[in-house]
Amino acid sequence: MEKDALKYPITYLSNVGATRAKLLKDGMGISTYGDLLLQFPTKHIDRSRFYYTHELTSEMPYVQMRGQILSFEEQGFGRKRRIVGHFSDGQGIVDLVWFNGLQYVEKSYKLLTDYVIFGKPTLYRDRFNITHPEIESIERFNRSSMGLRPYYSIPEKLQKRGINTRMMEQWVATVFRIIHEPLPETLPEYLLRELQLMSRDEAIRTMHYPQSAEHLSRASFRLKFEELFFIQLNILRYSRERSRRYAGYVFTRVGDVFNDFYYHHLPFPLTEAQKRVIREIHTDMKSGRQMNRLLQGDVGSGKTLVALMTMLIALDNGYQTCIMAPTEILAEQHLETFRQFLGDMPIRVELLTGMVKGKRRQAIFDGLLSGEVHILIGTHAVIEDNVQFRCLGMVVIDEQHRFGVAQRAKLWSKSQTPPHVLVMTATPIPRTLAMTVYGDLDVSIIDELPPGRKPIQTIHHYENRLEDLYRGLRQQIDLGRQAYIVYPLIKESEKIDLKNLEEGYQQFCRAFPDLRISKVHGKMKSVEKDAEMERFVRGETQILMATTVIEVGVNVPNASVMVIENAERFGLAQLHQLRGRVGRGAEQSYCILVTGFKLASDTRRRIQIMCETNDGFEIAEEDMRLRGPGDLEGTQQSGIPFDLHIANLARDGQVVQLARDVAKRVLESDPQYDRPDHAMMWQALRDLNKNYIDWSAIS
Ligand code: ADP
Ligand code: MG
Repeated sequence: MEKDALKYPITYLSNVGATRAKLLKDGMGISTYGDLLLQFPTKHIDRSRFYYTHELTSEMPYVQMRGQILSFEEQGFGRKRRIVGHFSDGQGIVDLVWFNGLQYVEKSYKLLTDYVIFGKPTLYRDRFNITHPEIESIERFNRSSMGLRPYYSIPEKLQKRGINTRMMEQWVATVFRIIHEPLPETLPEYLLRELQLMSRDEAIRTMHYPQSAEHLSRASFRLKFEELFFIQLNILRYSRERSRRYAGYVFTRVGDVFNDFYYHHLPFPLTEAQKRVIREIHTDMKSGRQMNRLLQGDVGSGKTLVALMTMLIALDNGYQTCIMAPTEILAEQHLETFRQFLGDMPIRVELLTGMVKGKRRQAIFDGLLSGEVHILIGTHAVIEDNVQFRCLGMVVIDEQHRFGVAQRAKLWSKSQTPPHVLVMTATPIPRTLAMTVYGDLDVSIIDELPPGRKPIQTIHHYENRLEDLYRGLRQQIDLGRQAYIVYPLIKESEKIDLKNLEEGYQQFCRAFPDLRISKVHGKMKSVEKDAEMERFVRGETQILMATTVIEVGVNVPNASVMVIENAERFGLAQLHQLRGRVGRGAEQSYCILVTGFKLASDTRRRIQIMCETNDGFEIAEEDMRLRGPGDLEGTQQSGIPFDLHIANLARDGQVVQLARDVAKRVLESDPQYDRPDHAMMWQALRDLNKNYIDWSAIS
């Protein structure tokens, strides 16, 4: 009975009925006793520490006080009606506030009786008050013996319905009382010993009731490790199964196409990093295993060229290739870039997007089937079922929106011999995130920019320094350079954004009557837009004003100034990506971040980081630290098969690395998954996976 108790529905608890059960399920994902135990406290309160009224500040998230309620009073009318209990700790008064249940409150708490109260103090009309405090009699408080008391964060919605941390504490205690046997272990004995990990049972109990801070940190380490370990085990097992199952095309030839390009069309020497990465990719391509590689490099490091050149190797071996871009505009740009690079080489490159219709589309389909189309560029549309190649040998995914293991699997699941896959990221990804989201891929990094690039100078301007901005711009334009001015585009307020752009445009036209200024935004017809962009690219206009990141995704080495208006509305990755549009020529370039005066501290930090560094990897790390990994683009659909409860990719980098190393070793030691001492580990992995993606189906 004990083990099964973990599967009991929480409605078995005496004070959990259908309503609370639903709240707990929807609000916190708790439906069984087992779930309850895995809902760890967010912090612990030192039982020996009581606060006095004079110590309170409104910054305190939570305090514990001791004292008596002197009197109750009803205040306000209608919806504002509330019960106020004047609480004294012997030194001062704090108001306890309830918005419901006068009778309940008066019945539950006695006047002039010792209580321990918990809650968040807020300052209201010179007096601290605590809304919906948690209250416990001094006897009961004294009866429980632990030194650190769990505090569970309860979502506000649940709090409003009367569920609080004390209640959680009771439920958890009840469950622990029912379950006598140790909670099942998931890691093999030898790992526990070797890594000096607490048993799972001890760790989970300690999380709720730690004897000391040191115990608590050992418990949380054990559980973080476990969580990250199973993710790595999953990913690595998956990639191993994949390479066992699929042989790869063998591309040994580096022939006419590649060499012709290399010797006659490449307009500049490759950087050492580009050469190294091309070698790494080629080694994969001729290995007999299917390549699955991630290409990382900062904005402007020359990833596109690497992609193109490795695609040429596939052509040399008689295969077609395709490249998938996240948006139509980027796909069009790739087409343009490829055509420029390839010049008059006899290579047929085609673009397939939603815009390509009718006869044109059919012609491309025919060319793909016959093998006459060598390189296909497009959006996600290129991997849909109706697009058929004669022999697709390599796929490049140019990603902006990260998609994970499972989605990528679609690319090759249909074919006996799957194409080689190269994933390029638009901006660098923090290492821990890469290990997790792209953990099944090998990684190549371009850690060098093409020569002659001067670091971009980034400057923060408050919006009132228009004159300085004009002067700087004028100086650069007099030197023959060009400038971008970018306005944020937020879908919900497209009208306002457009208005901002419009006003800005009028303003700049007045300030620079002698200059030609282009204006580009999402509402324009794409023909007009292209024409306007084209004018800027040719240097006919000196300033390009635009609403989005994408619209300025062009490559204009002569542009040396990037002005970002309302920079506070952009995320770090976006700012960095935008800034990467300048600094592409040999001249000194500038990025001006214009903001209002009022900046939240996070925003201020973002701007500061931008001004301090040009290093995309550093920025990515900082971004993750600021926003938390959960909010980073695409982590939700990353293919991480279970949520992280306790580990944090921003803070637990070392644990991620350790988990990965150990998982590798464990897999190597158990190629058939049949070591007896691993049985419960594999079972735990299966249990974890059950509710998520069916990985076995794709591996
Ligand atoms: P990424 O896609 O990595 O942001 P791109 O591939 O767009 O960067 O390259 C940025 C610019 O640098 C392009 O104009 C490209 O032609 C140029 N470039 C690439 N490699 C080199 C090189 N080895 N030397 C000089 N310029 C290069
Ligand atoms: Mg690029």
